[in-house]
Amino acid sequence: LPHISRLKTYQGVSPSETLAEEAGIPLEQVIRLNGNENPYGPSPQVAEALGSFRDYNHYPDPSQRRLRGALSDYLGVAEENIVAGNGSDEIIDLLMRMFLAPGDEIIIPVPTFGMYSFSADVAGAQAVAVPRDDNFDIDIEAIRGAITPRTKAIFFPTPNNPTGNVVTEAQARALLDTGLLVVSDEAYYDFCGQTLKPLLSEYRNLVVLRTFSKWAGLAGLRIGAGAMDAELAATMMGMKPPYNVNLAAEVALLASLSDTGILLDRVDAIVKERGRMYRLLCEIPGITVWPSQANFILCKMPDGRGLEVYEAMCRRGVFLRYFDNDLLRDYIRSSVGKPEG
Ligand code: PMP
Repeated sequence: LPHISRLKTYQGVSPSETLAEEAGIPLEQVIRLNGNENPYGPSPQVAEALGSFRDYNHYPDPSQRRLRGALSDYLGVAEENIVAGNGSDEIIDLLMRMFLAPGDEIIIPVPTFGMYSFSADVAGAQAVAVPRDDNFDIDIEAIRGAITPRTKAIFFPTPNNPTGNVVTEAQARALLDTGLLVVSDEAYYDFCGQTLKPLLSEYRNLVVLRTFSKWAGLAGLRIGAGAMDAELAATMMGMKPPYNVNLAAEVALLASLSDTGILLDRVDAIVKERGRMYRLLCEIPGITVWPSQANFILCKMPDGRGLEVYEAMCRRGVFLRYFDNDLLRDYIRSSVGKPEG
């Protein structure tokens, strides 16, 4: 397996038990701020619905009728334009497999979410990293300059992970006008309210991704969706694993959508806490704090002290994400937690 054995594995976040063991602290002390999860958990309706559902002995619907119906109401997009996935990660992976042959390229403005280069790599293709500017805004000219005959798609999150800033409509239009597939990954949409969804009717080459992992607190159940051109959606429906979204995830999604009030109140609480956290971080001398539209905040640590801070926080049970690479030299990203910790 020459190609697969060269892959750089994708490191997701570890379970709390592993974090506790590695830091030598009791499990109850673990505060997870490294995975941009929702600290409030799912809607209380989810546990109830999962407990009273009886048909787990049946396979889920390969056509996703109920799921697509519910997602259609929620997104305001027709069912034929929607595909549900095992997390939005799966939709990313399906897109790569649909669009990329070995040797093809995608463009990713970096720093960004690691899944794009990972999935492109698995497909035998290459993710061409185009640096963002000093404010982490995407650089349209540099992206245009990186396009080659092998380029098939441009992937970006908006808000971006880990920088927290959004892509403007004008920037998105400039990318869409290249005619390449443009994937607007809106995993953190609910914390900012800005979406490229209205452009779907204008551009057949646009795909908008959403997830229930963040705003709805369902990261562990793995449910996300893509909204796209109907023909593209039909092709994706035809090539996905038939039972890709499990019944528990479907039950949880339906319960969440019947109880959005509490979930949106929690989103508001997270946004409010993000503001408080931002102001507090800005008061610390030497730290550069990036304003964020998502449920996390990125900071550049002063005097190369990031690792020390990261490790000291681990010992106290607070798990953050530490970056130290060519693009992000000594940065820390923290998810927004509960005000009380
Ligand atoms: N896109 C971005 C930008 C993310 O940060 C994440 C989660 N880390 C995902 C997608 C994955 O979401 P899901 O849980 O739906 O697979």
